[in-house]
Amino acid sequence: MKKTHSVQCNLCNKNQTEHISNKGQFDIPLDVVICTNCGLSYLNPRWNKQSYMEFYANEYDSFYRPEIYKKRTTREEVNPIIDRLTSYNLFPHEINNVLDIGSGEGRNLSALQNEFNGASFFAIEPSKQSQSLLEKAGYKLVSSDVDSDWDQANETKYDIVIMRHVLEHFLDPLNILTKVRNVLADGGILYIAVPNCLKPTSNLELSWFRIVHTYYFNKFTLENLVQKAGFKIDKIIDGDSHNKGELVVVVSAANKPIAPQIKSEHFKIQRDFFVDRLKEEKSFKFKIKKLTSGFKRKLGIQ
Ligand SMILES: [Zn+2]
Repeated sequence: MKKTHSVQCNLCNKNQTEHISNKGQFDIPLDVVICTNCGLSYLNPRWNKQSYMEFYANEYDSFYRPEIYKKRTTREEVNPIIDRLTSYNLFPHEINNVLDIGSGEGRNLSALQNEFNGASFFAIEPSKQSQSLLEKAGYKLVSSDVDSDWDQANETKYDIVIMRHVLEHFLDPLNILTKVRNVLADGGILYIAVPNCLKPTSNLELSWFRIVHTYYFNKFTLENLVQKAGFKIDKIIDGDSHNKGELVVVVSAANKPIAPQIKSEHFKIQRDFFVDRLKEEKSFKFKIKKLTSGFKRKLGIQ
């Protein structure tokens, strides 16, 4: 049985929310709310730390990384991280240490290793199965728990830190971002990719809202959060050919944190989007789509 608790807004510390939905992927009960002050969406109440840690250590891979149980394909795919950093000329001049937070089995590290063979590669990853694969590949595990004091325990400074689809999973994203800010090398960059909650590419209550996504970012809330953690934005990619529903920011250290710019339209834009989209999904057209995808899933052809 999972234990739950309530939390305040990670961006503005207020505790004033509007309820958006209580339905999510795999029919696991959840509560999506939106902060009426700053517009950040999140789960509240939500599972406590221990419940999430148990889920990530033992259950997450079977739900979300089925490929880990299969043989890896040999086909080389273009890595979106490398492609974007190259296209926008955002790679640091010197690359000695690379850290991937929530690395999974290490696909991004492996792609980056092909590009920067002389560098050292590090990971933070809670899944036991992924940890053993990382170890086999020769990557160093910094910690299995991103909420621990891993930033204080090691003296390594990182030139590239990757957080690909992990920020939305954290219990305290601001705190993690602040830790990353402390371990970034001079001239280093942090690459963040999250689902864009103003451009969801799937049904909200069938797949977009999920128990592991504790936060739901858009360009306003993500920009405010990274600035509050002491970063400046070098590039923001609001969907591209790699992924239309993905929001990517590449940031580097700022001189000092910037207080969030709270605007009432940030709340209104996201709230209205969710309300309209949920209404649309309840319409006939969306119900048919949902039925079809349910059948496909049952038949194992999705
Ligand atoms: Zn807020």
